[in-house]
Amino acid sequence: MNCVICKQGETVPGKTTVTLNRGPTTVIVKDVPAEVCRDCGEYYLSEPVSEWLLERADHAAESGTEVEILRYAAYGGPYRDCRPTSPCGGRRRSCR
Ligand SMILES: [Zn+2]
Repeated sequence: MNCVICKQGETVPGKTTVTLNRGPTTVIVKDVPAEVCRDCGEYYLSEPVSEWLLERADHAAESGTEVEILRYAAYGGPYRDCRPTSPCGGRRRSCR
């Protein structure tokens, strides 16, 4: 697909680092699979991936973490890390 930011670059599958903020909580996730623009470096996440990232940010905020740095691959992707022992009690939408 064409990049919607620079309108010139083409996106290619790659990896990126995503930073999320939830109030005082910052979550940094490395090696996130994404479509990355060859020209400007803008990235585009798929829906399951961005949902997973938002869940991680919520978890970190709920447990009062200030900064959490994760590696996406360590979790094997979306839907794997939410357990009954998680702060949410495993009840989130992604806990399937
Ligand atoms: Zn671009």
